Amino acid sequence: MTLPRRPKGFMFDLDGTLILSDRKLGGYSAIPGAAETLRALDARGIPWIAMTNGSAYPASVQAPRLRAVGLPVRDERLFTPNSVAGKAMLERGYSRVLVLGTQGVVDALTEMGVPCVLPEDDGAHAADAVYVAWHPECTMPHIHLACERVLDGAAFLTASDVPYFATKEGRSFGYSCAINGAVARVTGVEPEPCGKPSPLALPMIAEELGVSEQDVGVVGDDAVAEMQMARAGGAIGIAVASGSTSHEQWEAQPPERAPHVVIDSVQDLLAALDIG
Ligand SMILES: [Mg+2]
Repeated sequence: MTLPRRPKGFMFDLDGTLILSDRKLGGYSAIPGAAETLRALDARGIPWIAMTNGSAYPASVQAPRLRAVGLPVRDERLFTPNSVAGKAMLERGYSRVLVLGTQGVVDALTEMGVPCVLPEDDGAHAADAVYVAWHPECTMPHIHLACERVLDGAAFLTASDVPYFATKEGRSFGYSCAINGAVARVTGVEPEPCGKPSPLALPMIAEELGVSEQDVGVVGDDAVAEMQMARAGGAIGIAVASGSTSHEQWEAQPPERAPHVVIDSVQDLLAALDIG
């Protein structure tokens, strides 16, 4: 595994890469060396953003939590699938988006100007798009309504269709993936992911960093979310073994999900890329 070129900007995954969350306590801890690495990039003027597939909260809620554990992540540097979804929804001009997600998801999209409805709202039956995100309170009537809308021709988008993410207690599963599975099984329509590895995400990340897609270093612990996105977009995949994927598992990835380089953790990033 060799680097095709040195990245000019970076996208960092959160869970398993910069932090480990503790689901029981509802808190985070930073991966050792993560804060130092981000500060070192800042000191060298190398642009970076963080992007999570977690959609439960807007950046204005999540970023302060990251700063509380020492990570220098300003609100505007934190991207969520809702950021990507909102941009795509506005461009496509949906008149009403049915959201299966928390109030935080609705808030994030509404802030961007997307007309949202919840399953209980008037007009939910006329939605021309369905967006599935973090939705721990999902009920069968919600799934029923989503299926009806999709069968009726509504677009079907999701924050994330990745089954697992890394936590302190080990693998945890993505609720949106479970809900997507139910809707897709019934309707025969697969969702369009807006989070990683969505083809919608990398161009937005590159634009934000001010570099070309080929010069983005995509740093993450998940073969599908980060490495598949990097490979599909011609970016540079940098895998860490601090999250849900071990060194042995990285070795076993097919070419379309293979990292260009594997490091133990983000602590080793600068040394591995020879960024002095
Ligand atoms: Mg991760």
